[in-house]
Amino acid sequence: MIYLDNAATTSVYDDVIKEMLPYFTMEYANPSEIYSYATGARKGMNMARKHIADLINADSTEIYFTSGGTESDNWALKGTAYTLRGNGKHIITSAIEHHAVTNSCRQLEKLGYEITFLPVGTNGIVDPAHVRRAIRNDTILVSVMMANNEIGTIQPVSEITAIAHERNVWVHTDAVQAFGNIDIDVKKLNVDMLSASAHKCHGPKGMGLLYVKNGVKLSHIMSGGKQERAMRAGTENIPGIVGFGKAAQICKEKDNYNSEYITKLRNHFIKRVTDEIENVIVNGSIDKRLPGNVSFSFACLDGEMIQIQLDMKGICCSTGSACNAGSSGISHVIAALHIPEEYAYGTVRFTICDSNTCEEIDYTVEALKEIVKKLRDMSARYKAYKGRLKMR
Ligand code: PLP
Repeated sequence: MIYLDNAATTSVYDDVIKEMLPYFTMEYANPSEIYSYATGARKGMNMARKHIADLINADSTEIYFTSGGTESDNWALKGTAYTLRGNGKHIITSAIEHHAVTNSCRQLEKLGYEITFLPVGTNGIVDPAHVRRAIRNDTILVSVMMANNEIGTIQPVSEITAIAHERNVWVHTDAVQAFGNIDIDVKKLNVDMLSASAHKCHGPKGMGLLYVKNGVKLSHIMSGGKQERAMRAGTENIPGIVGFGKAAQICKEKDNYNSEYITKLRNHFIKRVTDEIENVIVNGSIDKRLPGNVSFSFACLDGEMIQIQLDMKGICCSTGSACNAGSSGISHVIAALHIPEEYAYGTVRFTICDSNTCEEIDYTVEALKEIVKKLRDMSARYKAYKGRLKMR
């Protein structure tokens, strides 16, 4: 099997599993208990918090553990809406956010909040000038993701923050795809909240965090006990937290999991496909994109057909985000790029990590060449399209 779907999820690294195991069997105490046996669980949790804080240049007290990126996004959006409901009911976000953000916005809309969905350019990037224009006196939050899950584009978050803060508007960024892949410095970004998730960076599933800048008085949305300094109720997932911490530590030691090597593989992949297959485009900016993300759109083909054919050759890739898998049509992200319709349906996403090799990429290119040729040879649509291209 060749696994090129690391934006959907990653394998949990052996060292992460090793670190987690004792917390299932030996240090299994509830960290809220005051007896000395619970000290081990608490220590594990504190160490993990420190590794994570170090990776993003935060203070440990600014890291709150959650059940994943989805919960963190929900908390940032709904928590802000609840906290600042007296200040206004306008939220700004982008047209290419993950559904954890867009659907939280949709839910808030039903409660009377007004949402502005900012467009992106054909490069898949939000123009900070649009943020400036969209801010109103009743705006309470700007939520723009750090890196997109489908096309990998990296957003100008620090510029957006500077603009929002001029008007005292809070900023949240969904860094689920960015965390562990590119440098994140919360002090430089100056965001008020940031979401991340462990399973996107070789940690366990069902484990996330919300960074909340010290001084930002965000309300909790999970009611219950006083865990996470009364900000996020529920018994802590200690093995998950410890695994997340270890993943963050390895990520720092390996310079974002060997991002330079991953970038080389990505560029090699893009070059070979665009040189050797005709009528294909790369979605989103080439420079401002995650090291491992490659999103192609093949003219007059169906992305899902390509995905199935690749699967038959042992290659795992995706047509969009994992959360959209199985739903046909164009994703909201691809739609926002306004690429020609002939291309939009033929979108396939490959996401590389540092366990992938150049041989795997070359094998995938050869498989793609064969599949694209076979499908196009059978496609009357492609023949008509080529005829139109000749006439132009
Ligand atoms: N945000 C982005 C950008 C994502 O890519 C994902 C998952 O694919 C999420 C949020 C949700 O994270 P989780 O799977 O940890 O709930």
